[in-house]
Amino acid sequence: MQAGGALRARILVSRCLLGDAVRYDGRSKPAARVAGLLALAAALDAFEVLPVCPEVEAGLGTPRPPIDLVRGPAGLRVVDRAADRDVTDALDRVAAARLAAPVHGFVGKARSPSCGQGDAACYDAAGRPLAPADGRFAAGVRARWAHAAICSDETLDAAFVVDAALAAAGDGSPSALLDFHGRFGEEWSAGAGSVTRERLAAYAVGGARRAYGLLLGAAAADNVRKAAAWSASC
Ligand code: SF4
Repeated sequence: MQAGGALRARILVSRCLLGDAVRYDGRSKPAARVAGLLALAAALDAFEVLPVCPEVEAGLGTPRPPIDLVRGPAGLRVVDRAADRDVTDALDRVAAARLAAPVHGFVGKARSPSCGQGDAACYDAAGRPLAPADGRFAAGVRARWAHAAICSDETLDAAFVVDAALAAAGDGSPSALLDFHGRFGEEWSAGAGSVTRERLAAYAVGGARRAYGLLLGAAAADNVRKAAAWSASC
């Protein structure tokens, strides 16, 4: 979260969205919105982008057979149905390792059985479709870091970035928040339109909450311009 005393939001991003050829079919899925996020992270120096591919890190290889969410007697599992192989535990080990340090945001590939959020195809044991569900890794992010902002390549917008920043702000000490605010102002939060002071208060804790509250309204015009430019490009 903090490098050299500066508060930074730690954002996990699905590697295939960054242009890495890690998908089951050996391809990538680069996303313009994610490229915009990287540019914003570089411009503001308030975000740390952390690439992750749960399936590759679980040792499933590339290319690999597609895996599916399957709901059966043992609950929701992740299965390579062609090989009749359950890969749930391998994916959960990756999640435990990657989610041990604080995570303030996750941008996951839509509809992936690992990285999708509420939109991954799900089947019963006979292969009949059920209601879609979270991918296994995305579910892990929700369970481990409840305040983390979560979105897909299709829903990434300025509000996500603000939410991730506020999640990081809620983790910070008063001095770290002072530094953070200098680079990422309240004005941007207001401009994004979807983040309220109540949500900020819910993220913040103790003295950090009070310190950040005292700072609301301070100017950060340069950050506002950068954020507005990025938001307009989405
Ligand atoms: S596991 Fe996630 S990061 Fe890896 S290829 Fe699938 S969607 Fe992309």
